[in-house]
Amino acid sequence: MFNFDDFTFDRQHIWHPYTSMRNPLPCYAVVAAKGCCLELADGRKLVDGMSSWWSAIHGYNHQRLNHALKKQIDYMSHVMFGGITHPAAVSLCRKLVGITPKELQCVFLSDSGSVAVEVSMKMAMQYWLGRGEKRPKFLTIKGGYHGDTLSAMSVCDPDNSIHSLWRGFVPKNYFTVAPNCSFYSSWNESELDDFYKKVEQHHNNLAAIILEPIVQGVGGMRFYHPCYLQRVREVCSHYGLLLIADEIATGFGRTGKLFACEHADIVPDIMCLGKALTGGTMTLAATLTTNDIAHTISSATNCLMHGPTFMGNPLACAVACESLSLIIEGKWFNQVANIEKHLKKMYVSLNNHSRVADVRVLGAIGVIETHQYINIAAIQEFFVKQDVWIRPFNKVIYLIPPYIITYKQLDKLINAISEALDHSDFFYY
Ligand SMILES: *Cc1c(COP(=O)(O)O)cnc(C)c1O
Repeated sequence: MFNFDDFTFDRQHIWHPYTSMRNPLPCYAVVAAKGCCLELADGRKLVDGMSSWWSAIHGYNHQRLNHALKKQIDYMSHVMFGGITHPAAVSLCRKLVGITPKELQCVFLSDSGSVAVEVSMKMAMQYWLGRGEKRPKFLTIKGGYHGDTLSAMSVCDPDNSIHSLWRGFVPKNYFTVAPNCSFYSSWNESELDDFYKKVEQHHNNLAAIILEPIVQGVGGMRFYHPCYLQRVREVCSHYGLLLIADEIATGFGRTGKLFACEHADIVPDIMCLGKALTGGTMTLAATLTTNDIAHTISSATNCLMHGPTFMGNPLACAVACESLSLIIEGKWFNQVANIEKHLKKMYVSLNNHSRVADVRVLGAIGVIETHQYINIAAIQEFFVKQDVWIRPFNKVIYLIPPYIITYKQLDKLINAISEALDHSDFFYY
């Protein structure tokens, strides 16, 4: 099914995320996936700790999701969204409007998280155009990640992020220091000193403040204090600034709440969704906003200037709709709570390891931060030998498993990490 030639071809001709063509990180061929397991070409089955980057929350090859796709494909797999609508899009958006805060009433569908972020930024700028103001700038917090397209990169962490290479190429935006106060520590008002200063300086230029609520993902897997988010909301309301919540990683239960904004009991003006939206089956994202913002955009500039070819793809909408049905049925809540409880055992088993700087858990997210940088290729090879799929970055080993994972499978992931920590050759000095 997959032979040596295929690997060679892959190595020579196919780019993989964030790796070089000259000297790529090794790749593993997966030929099937079911439940919480990935099946390799040689027949080995790996317990998946990554949900294919936050997306496969219900597990792989889910019968109901598959059925939704098969049912839709017999009607049509795609039709343009310009001048046309279809049942899958309407059903999906009804559900989206239903489960998100009641203020968010208008949905823009797009193909990927990065595009949903681009759309959110355009919405904010066009909102101000609608009010007769040109506001081209954004304020965000350091340590953030919002995607790989150019505008999205302009609000990713400017120093540490995978995008530091692009400084000078992307629009220059404003950054405030990352919140230091972790989710579980006691709140300290002085956390916001720099934020208040930046807002005071720049608010007349700002189209919006954009951030990941509560969990900063790819920027370092940090969980910050809900009070921080509350204050940001208050400041936005005070100055009439828009707040964009990028819930692309955190949405649909991952942090223990349906949306991470609920930890702070706040409602954003614009919300970006993606990743788990289709339960990890198809690429789809959504940007939601209020009637007021949507109507203001339309008052001066008539239309929102965006419209991807595959906007509202019926297959993606149909499967997203079924994934939302699963979410609405509510099993996720106990599943995530149980994963959280189980992951928290790492506080005892791993926290005192000499190589570990910090262990933190929130919802179905477990993070082990190490003192040293990790040799990704070496540790990954070890993990695969242990029959688990975990992909660390920088100094972070993290678990974001499908919600259906069993305790036994979770233990397998945790034990593999625990053993890996004892191998000095997986860490750089
Ligand atoms: C992954 C991610 C994105 C980008 O989504 P893509 O589908 O990869 O384009 C944007 N924001 C956050 C918070 C993400 O985690």
